Amino acid sequence: MTVASILKEKPDRLISVQEDSTLSDVAEILTRENIGAVPVLDAKGDMTGIISERDIVRQIAREGAGVLARTVSSIMTRNVLCCAPEDSVSSTMAMMTQRRFRHLPVRSNGRIIGMISIGDVVKRRVEDAEREAASLRDYIVRG
Ligand code: AMP
Repeated sequence: MTVASILKEKPDRLISVQEDSTLSDVAEILTRENIGAVPVLDAKGDMTGIISERDIVRQIAREGAGVLARTVSSIMTRNVLCCAPEDSVSSTMAMMTQRRFRHLPVRSNGRIIGMISIGDVVKRRVEDAEREAASLRDYIVRG
């Protein structure tokens, strides 16, 4: 199973923010869209970073709610790890577990074409395991 098979089941639109968006804007987008992180894109559509709800919460804990007026560029993570549509679901799970983050942008031909979360990956792996168990049961019952 590949990352492409997860993307196929998700809405075909990329939610992103810009470096000059405020943290308050990002919090509003994450809440409205029911997601945990967004890629940060420049005017050409190139990714310059990623920002997650965890970044915002950490910053509020350090400096107080006043940080919500600050811009994304001041706290985003610049060194972003991505996956490719042809990567296996299990390799992305290993990557997210090792690096302790829950989101991976999907890059194809230099462009960000989607995002997958640890929730998407776990859901897919559980579905695969259930399908495999059902076909083994079927095989045993039918002989
Ligand atoms: P998360 O668990 O995804 O909410 O993110 C935890 C931390 O890792 C935050 O500082 C994020 O900005 C950062 N982060 C999330 N996803 C990635 C990624 N794919 N590459 C690099 N950093 C990331």
